[in-house]
Amino acid sequence: MTAPPPYRGRFAPSPTGPLHFGSLIAAVGSYLDARHRHGRWFVRMEDLDPPREMPGAADRILRSLEAHGLTWDDSVLYQSQRHEAYAAALDTLKKSGSLFCCSCTRAVLGPGGHCGRRCSPKPGEATSERVVVAGGGTFDDFILGPQEGANAGDAVLRRKDGLFAYALAVVVDDAYQAISHVLRGQDLLGETSGQIELFERLNQTPPGYGHLPLLCDRRGHKLSKQTGARALDDHQPLANLRSALHYLGQGAAQAEAGSVEELLAIAIAHWQRQPLIDNAGRPLPHHDGIPR
Ligand SMILES: [Zn+2]
Repeated sequence: MTAPPPYRGRFAPSPTGPLHFGSLIAAVGSYLDARHRHGRWFVRMEDLDPPREMPGAADRILRSLEAHGLTWDDSVLYQSQRHEAYAAALDTLKKSGSLFCCSCTRAVLGPGGHCGRRCSPKPGEATSERVVVAGGGTFDDFILGPQEGANAGDAVLRRKDGLFAYALAVVVDDAYQAISHVLRGQDLLGETSGQIELFERLNQTPPGYGHLPLLCDRRGHKLSKQTGARALDDHQPLANLRSALHYLGQGAAQAEAGSVEELLAIAIAHWQRQPLIDNAGRPLPHHDGIPR
């Protein structure tokens, strides 16, 4: 019997704005899950899309994590410095015949539509590079239980503007950092089976996945920088952490602790994945847990 691989978790924010409460929940969840299992925890900056980024946001996110006691191992991995690795992965896929050029626009494909190599780009026409996704894969989510993979269609790995896509970078980097457990928000649940397939096409072992309930506003929209979520106040980390622990269903939210370090030590010792779902196995309902 071989021993399971050592636990290696990660938090991967994109520097499109400062850390907000919704992203703090993902950071705290993945941090506690890793530390509770004596694992390592890494931070990866998803700075692949300069037009969407906010100057200074990457550093501000790191300072916020530090203010909340969420210290990471090794140095931060910046996706902007990984272009060679992404190009090499595209090359591997090209050689195996699973990559194709596509000139379809979103308007042509329609919602949920997929190209399936049906287009024939003209010379000089802007194309994206897509990988064939068979779909239909299943996986065992360590928060939500067994999942039927969504068939999201052939994923774009390199966009028409030449930028490498998230779908490629996340898999290449999870493999590079030997990530064993990915704990993240449920907005990425639908992409998971496609990502697992991409690991296999790149001859890599996929990590295990767990998806946390998303923090939504009262109208049911995901709390995000795009929906105007406020930046975390780094001057009240203890209160922010308590709110995050409360949202994650952790008893440690009520623990007596005078410092961030003390609260995190209690939260690590008592971390449980189970309270994230109700007795019927459903994700906990969304609620407005935004600290005032
Ligand atoms: Zn196409």
